[in-house]
Amino acid sequence: MMPEMMNFEAEPMTVPRPANTVRAAITPRNNSVYTSVDFDREGKQIGFFHVPQSPHDDAWGTIRVPLAVIKNGDGPTVLIEGGNHGDEYEGPIALGEFLREIDPRDIAGRIIAIPAINIRAVEAGTRTSPVDGLNFNRSFPGDFNGTLTSQIAAYVHDILFPKADYFLDLHSGGSSLMILPSAIIEPSPTAQGHRKNIKATLAFGAPTVVMVDNLGETRTSTASANHQGLIVIGSEMAGGGLVSQDALAICRRGIRNVLKHAGVLKGAPDIAPGANARVLKVPGSEGYLLSEEDGVFEPLSPLGSAVSKGDLAGRIHFLHTPSRAPIDLLHPIDGIVFAKRQPGRVRPGNCCFVLANEYPEALTDGP
Ligand SMILES: [Zn+2]
Repeated sequence: MMPEMMNFEAEPMTVPRPANTVRAAITPRNNSVYTSVDFDREGKQIGFFHVPQSPHDDAWGTIRVPLAVIKNGDGPTVLIEGGNHGDEYEGPIALGEFLREIDPRDIAGRIIAIPAINIRAVEAGTRTSPVDGLNFNRSFPGDFNGTLTSQIAAYVHDILFPKADYFLDLHSGGSSLMILPSAIIEPSPTAQGHRKNIKATLAFGAPTVVMVDNLGETRTSTASANHQGLIVIGSEMAGGGLVSQDALAICRRGIRNVLKHAGVLKGAPDIAPGANARVLKVPGSEGYLLSEEDGVFEPLSPLGSAVSKGDLAGRIHFLHTPSRAPIDLLHPIDGIVFAKRQPGRVRPGNCCFVLANEYPEALTDGP
């Protein structure tokens, strides 16, 4: 056994694997990434996958990315990711706790967990990687011939996604945003896939559920998993570069709830009173209120508040020109304040607020 790995053996159980959506065929690209875990072995392994690098101080070393596999008999595979952005902490904390606690005899199927996937950004506490400056969540499908972030994305895309039936991606608002703790619906191009994503996301059991399409962005890990036919669940847990106790509790429960929904853990999802109370949708570019000035942002709309088009959202102050009055920022549409900028300093194009509308269709039974 490699010293970096922990193994806990379990007796296999046999549970039929549920039918899934049609899966896109992926031919893994040639690569030098290797792992210390065996994806087909019964029990619990907490190890790493290794991405060979050759920097000045380490000619033949690797960057180790934590990777856990927990398997017991047949059943679906749930891939759970934390640390996509390195300044979003609830997911990695809750996922680490879960891995230490879970007894493989209590599951049916397989859990693959990558709790600090963007490892160098997690170590630095930054959104983007300090190695290559890239945003992991704008790097899919990745490139094994690229820099570290692209290599990690390629490994997730080519090797991990094809093994999984479900993908849970745990985010928070990060340093620049405070977000209503929410489970996030990834829109699917097919009605059937969309319905499955909605049901799995409602099972997470967050107080708010929001459909976010990132303006059609295809380079995110959830969009990429969706494209391969996985059932996809996202989350956004508070933010501001902080650790929120409330959001952590939602995240802990959400991980187990998604595993229950998939049938990997026994029982029905534990939906707390007030969970799924608000189901919303970010409507498109009109839902984003951006700064048009260089200055200091004073937010005036609380997170979660209902606002109307034209309401005062905040002000931008010009500290270098005291004779100049601040300008008003007005809400562009009616909606609920889903996300709010955290730092005071703003430049043109910075996101100050994100508004979302009601999305009652999510609660109706579709195909
Ligand atoms: Zn994030």
